[in-house]
Amino acid sequence: MLVGVRPADPTSVPPGGLRPVHVLTVRAVTSVTPSVRRVTLAGPVAAATSAGPTVSVLVPRVGDPAPRWPQVARDGRIVWPQGSHGVALRSYTARREDPAAGEVDVDFVLHGDGPAATWAAAAAPGAVLGVAGSGPLGHRPAGRLLLAGDETALPAISRILAEAAPGTTGLVLLEVADAAEEQPLPAPPGVELRWLHRGTTPPGASTLLAEAVAARPPPGAEDVFAWVAAESAAVRSVRADLRGRWGLSRAQHHAIGYWRRGRAMAPAP
Ligand SMILES: Cc1cc2nc3c(=O)[nH]c(=O)nc-3n(C[C@H](O)[C@H](O)[C@H](O)COP(=O)(O)OP(=O)(O)OC[C@H]3O[C@@H](n4cnc5c(N)ncnc54)[C@H](O)[C@@H]3O)c2cc1C
Repeated sequence: MLVGVRPADPTSVPPGGLRPVHVLTVRAVTSVTPSVRRVTLAGPVAAATSAGPTVSVLVPRVGDPAPRWPQVARDGRIVWPQGSHGVALRSYTARREDPAAGEVDVDFVLHGDGPAATWAAAAAPGAVLGVAGSGPLGHRPAGRLLLAGDETALPAISRILAEAAPGTTGLVLLEVADAAEEQPLPAPPGVELRWLHRGTTPPGASTLLAEAVAARPPPGAEDVFAWVAAESAAVRSVRADLRGRWGLSRAQHHAIGYWRRGRAMAPAP
């Protein structure tokens, strides 16, 4: 699912014209956990600034030295080259942005198949990745937060927690495979972090997030915001609970499927 894509820098688009996409180069790669690989991307300040908080990345085929990138129209539309190009459009989150240093970190879940996971598994310094645009995380500050997600949502949740006011209270539910997939997440002292281990249940087949939310009484307060991102079916269950039993209005929650079990996010190019 590609959400809230806006052009990386609308002012740089010639009137009525198309602009080239920004291209970032891999500077470093580190293993965060057994299934998460952090890719540090570097490029001109404008390119690094355009890559977050959520980022629409253009993933070339592994080892393609000269990808045929699309171009970006003034309204953010991506205009693809004719014929086979091998570049896939996917959504990710900048875990860390340092525009002054022209750097962005993206944490890729190595889930197996898929152009983005395959690219990340093979990424090495010098490899290139395109940036087509960026979007917001969809959160808003509140006195009480419920954040819930799987590994793909961890970068966004870490950013939301880093921005939260020190007096924020609430609960963070994080579904991962096991203890080795847990990551340090600084949070305000009033926010409880709860790790849920799905063990041998395949990603996207677990009901842990929905069960954990179902076990919570409705917050009964106005100043509440819930942010949820994970596999689409898991998010649907949680969203229904938040809108129904919890009675949250649309302005009080953002619940979005970050991936779909058994389905690529966009057709193969
Ligand atoms: C706004 C937004 C931000 C996101 N941020 C991040 C991020 O920071 N880090 C991150 O890793 N992901 C993130 N995602 C999720 C990521 O876009 C999807 O996982 C995407 O499908 C990966 O593309 P792919 O080319 O690897 O696989 P695809 O070609 O899309 O899918 C191929 C196969 O892999 C399966 N699959 C896809 N993702 C997973 C997964 N996580 N676990 C198990 N199976 C999977 C699919 O069901 C499909 O069968 C984000 C998504 C959105 C919408």
